[in-house]
Amino acid sequence: MNVEEIYKEANALLEGHFILSSGNHSNRYLQSAKVLEEPKRAEKLASALADIIKKSDIEIDTVCAPALGGILAGYELARALGVRSIFVERKEGQMELRRGFEVKNGERVLICEDIITTGGSAMEASKIIEELGAKVVAFASLANRGFCRREGTDITPKEECKLPSNIPFFALADFTFEMFTPNECPMCKEGSVAIKPGSRSS
Ligand code: ZN
Repeated sequence: MNVEEIYKEANALLEGHFILSSGNHSNRYLQSAKVLEEPKRAEKLASALADIIKKSDIEIDTVCAPALGGILAGYELARALGVRSIFVERKEGQMELRRGFEVKNGERVLICEDIITTGGSAMEASKIIEELGAKVVAFASLANRGFCRREGTDITPKEECKLPSNIPFFALADFTFEMFTPNECPMCKEGSVAIKPGSRSS
């Protein structure tokens, strides 16, 4: 399965001149929500991710996603794994498990995102789940931005990666982009103006 091709088809992998959330510039940008716009495509990606996870023999009771970005990916992955799906969400800045969702003592939870960059939100979700007595046994995302090392690859995780090295992280593909500080950006030097796709209203 050519994951990059699927993202391109869905207009989820953009090419141009972009400002990333870190403030750096890049000629590529992942608009992750777009790849899940088509339910059939979401199902196909989640099912491929579930196949990788099943091969690891890690027992999973529940998939938990950090809202908002992770919910669809988490739900589709839970469907493919045949387990239940819950999500944590931010209330006044703090991640919480709300809406009557509960986890049991010792319940084995996989934290799922649509995309893992440094893994910050995934770690916040993990912390809440463990404080409630459950056990985080794995992390997963459809796309890995290449800061963290996913299972089956030998890249060295970058300093920015917040995921623990002793818990497996599964993803379909690495999307490692060339990044430039605004001062050193070759596209800016050519006079092009960078845009922030995430904040565009049309
Ligand atoms: Zn630039």
